[in-house]
Amino acid sequence: MSRCGFIALIGAPNAGKSTLLNKLTGAKLSIVSPKAQTTRARVLGILVRDDTQMIFVDTPGIFSPKRRLDQAMVEAAWNGAGEADILLLLLDAKKGLTSDVREIVTKLAERGAKIALVLNKIDLVERQNLLPLVQSMTQIAIFERVFMISAQTGDGIEELLTFCMGKLPEGVFLYPEDEMTDVPDRLLAAEIVREQIFLQTRDEVPYGTTVETESFKEQKNGSIRIEAVIYVAREGHKAILIGARGARIKEIGSRARRELERLLETKVDLFLRVVERPGWDEEAARIRAAGLELPRG
Ligand code: GDP
Repeated sequence: MSRCGFIALIGAPNAGKSTLLNKLTGAKLSIVSPKAQTTRARVLGILVRDDTQMIFVDTPGIFSPKRRLDQAMVEAAWNGAGEADILLLLLDAKKGLTSDVREIVTKLAERGAKIALVLNKIDLVERQNLLPLVQSMTQIAIFERVFMISAQTGDGIEELLTFCMGKLPEGVFLYPEDEMTDVPDRLLAAEIVREQIFLQTRDEVPYGTTVETESFKEQKNGSIRIEAVIYVAREGHKAILIGARGARIKEIGSRARRELERLLETKVDLFLRVVERPGWDEEAARIRAAGLELPRG
């Protein structure tokens, strides 16, 4: 009998969720960036090993909600966690037990969730410093198992996979075997553009920005024509994004295009527009377009 189920990756921004997911599935399905809070939409990575299909739910970072969009992200994270058969709490071992992490663990424990603790980035930490961290974690919650891994080097990942495979319920595969992601291509295109904005601009610019795919069309010759809009909350951000004589937006566009060509395995024509839209992050429509539900109430 085959096995199949959902595995939620939970953790503070930058804990390494995307890196782990990418390492596991061997495909770039969600954004990896040195800056916090880049993953807005819920993205699935699927791994088939032997007779087991593991569906990873990459939850957006859980953190104290400030703006409305942030609340939507928290909501999405909890929804992802609630559906899962396995909860993996990913912790940046270098950062240790921050107040964010304490809050997350406390909330999960309150919900009676069975959690496996995964200490990540052990390549950055001396072994003797890991044990005290585990001890302080187990003082605030009971963990099913504790794993020590490096999502970057792959250290410890086999043990983690073996655990997941053994714990998932028996059942048929929920996704066809060749379907490695359920990220709609339109969302993927927007995420890749967004990744470039994160990599090529600084400070608050990326956080005041959202990207939407307006049109995504396959051409007769097999190439794909994509039009995307970058919404900025402030006038100054528009100028930064466009850059001197359009240099920045050109670079964002050409790098995103190359990445999309690699992922979609065909020629891509990418057209970007920057549109000023004060208060976009409060707009329900934009929040939904980012693949998120509005918080209830
Ligand atoms: P997310 O916000 O949880 O998805 O975190 P990311 O996967 O984007 O990782 C945040 C940062 O930590 C990135 O710069 C990663 O390259 C880095 N990172 C993730 N895992 C590891 C690891 O095991 N070792 C090291 N040294 N860096 C890591």
